[in-house]
Amino acid sequence: MPLYLDTSDRPVVAIALCDRCHMKFSICDLFPDPNYPGLMCCKKDLDEYDPYRLAPPPADRIGLQFARPDAPLTGAEPSPPNNFPPSGD
Ligand SMILES: [Zn+2]
Repeated sequence: MPLYLDTSDRPVVAIALCDRCHMKFSICDLFPDPNYPGLMCCKKDLDEYDPYRLAPPPADRIGLQFARPDAPLTGAEPSPPNNFPPSGD
């Protein structure tokens, strides 16, 4: 690590310390951590965004796509008679 950082091509001439590794970086190379925005971290120490903080996924589509109506269809043959003996002893 050089003793001095070259900030000649940076839009802001400032040096800051990463809040995780405590190494010095140009302030343009530090980013707010997605989970803890108060922390300014280098690119190597940035956390991935916690998936539990994301919006919940959309609800599942549980309805039938081609549902049959409960009423009998017109012109359909009636159901066959029930020939089973009545239940019960
Ligand atoms: Zn760091």
